Amino acid sequence: MARTENELKSFIDDEKIFSLLEQGKNSSKEEILEIIQKSLSKQRLEPIETAKLLNVEDKELLDEIFKAANTLKEEIYGDRIVFFAPLYIGNKCINNCKYCGFQRDNTAIERKTLTLEELREQVKILESKGHKRLILVYGEHPDYDADFIAQTMRTVYDTKNKNGEIRRVNINAAPMEVEDYKKLKEAGIGTFQIFQETYHHETYQYLHPQGDMKGDYSYRLYGLDRAMEAGIDDVGIGALFGLYDWRFEVMGLLFHAIHLEEKFGVGPHTISFPRIEPALNNEYYNQTQYKVSDDDFKKIVAILRLSVPYTGMILTARETKEVRKEIIPYGISQIDAGSRIGIGGYTLDTLVPTKEQFQLGDTRELDDVVREMSEMNFLSSFCTACYRSGRTGEDFMCIAKPGDIQHFCAANGILTFKEYLIDYASPQTKIMGEKMIEKELEKIGKESPNRRELIENKIKLIEQGQRDVYI
Ligand code: SAM
Ligand code: SF4
Repeated sequence: MARTENELKSFIDDEKIFSLLEQGKNSSKEEILEIIQKSLSKQRLEPIETAKLLNVEDKELLDEIFKAANTLKEEIYGDRIVFFAPLYIGNKCINNCKYCGFQRDNTAIERKTLTLEELREQVKILESKGHKRLILVYGEHPDYDADFIAQTMRTVYDTKNKNGEIRRVNINAAPMEVEDYKKLKEAGIGTFQIFQETYHHETYQYLHPQGDMKGDYSYRLYGLDRAMEAGIDDVGIGALFGLYDWRFEVMGLLFHAIHLEEKFGVGPHTISFPRIEPALNNEYYNQTQYKVSDDDFKKIVAILRLSVPYTGMILTARETKEVRKEIIPYGISQIDAGSRIGIGGYTLDTLVPTKEQFQLGDTRELDDVVREMSEMNFLSSFCTACYRSGRTGEDFMCIAKPGDIQHFCAANGILTFKEYLIDYASPQTKIMGEKMIEKELEKIGKESPNRRELIENKIKLIEQGQRDVYI
């Protein structure tokens, strides 16, 4: 765990964040509208600008923020929502994070690691529902070293059956060393995610006991730098909301994004903003004074959308279906669905509290959520084309920034959705989904009849039985 000089001079300075949040108070209406305009021109905001937005309480101005977040989402991501599923591989853990059901002192949790055979079984079930992207989740434990993680990744990619295949495997695991990340790169990793949990140093130290692996704030903070140094192009940052003041955490996420952008020429691929949930035999949820209300949660999502226009934003099934429906239009680009977070939870197809990390809010099946997205005029996408065409990291941003991403993603979103509708959807979802595809084609056709024709030709190939068709 050697530290470079740079790492010791952290890019998260608590005092600076407090001071910016203080300076951000009492901005004029004109100043706020100007910041919103800057976001709409798709420029990343400076910390003082985000701090000003975080202090807005005037209802009319808040409505302007929400409206702009919605516009920006549409302009950059179109109507698409990308789907994925979490797959928990093992819940053994050597850490004692105060808020987590997997903490080592929790004797009520049944400890379990999937065998490779059990893993294959889980993957086949997920494939049979139509999933193409997974995020594999691990506790922190010597059993879950880079070799093991790489082996589980390879097993997932190799588990192909007539129902389809997983085309992108993302990882959420403890931070590691550069040499270890390289093993994951070799195994074909998509995104490596690490949530800092809280960016506030003192709170971090309180929640993650010193002496634990996770007790080292700085090692975790620079965990994604090491991943990028190892050649992993896409990294995901996140904060667990409910541990400390939400305004501070949004500033922490922004500083983290800026740091990666400045150091590697490209910011994080995604941002996650889980809210704390109750966990089995764990009282922290009832004790924390920082729980985020639904109204504030909506502000968090909209202000992040405005602050980092080109970063993907993930909303998980921790949230209830009502909250998800309300929040998605303000900037979300990825959601999970049909999720089970017990170890082996997909086989049992039921909730297993003694093996779960926390409680999920939205336990509907993938098909139900896909149908709801069509009803809301969102196009469900299972696209993984960029990664397989080498459009990741900086390359992805080069395409994404001028807005070209729209063309690839709109087409590939439609093509993967068509595959889903033919292979997996219920009759009702199929009807809604086909209507949604028709609406998208009409929109594209108005802009470019040629592009519509190109996509329609590819759709024909799918109807004739070809799969994994993308441009
Ligand atoms: N063990 C690894 C780690 O801590 O980084 C990776 C997996 S951990 C199971 C994934 C994430 O779950 C954590 O980073 C944390 O943000 C989140 N989490 C933990 N306890 C939670 C709770 N009670 N409610 C919601 N999310 C929680
Ligand atoms: Fe272990 Fe991660 Fe849970 Fe902490 S958050 S107890 S490291 S699984």
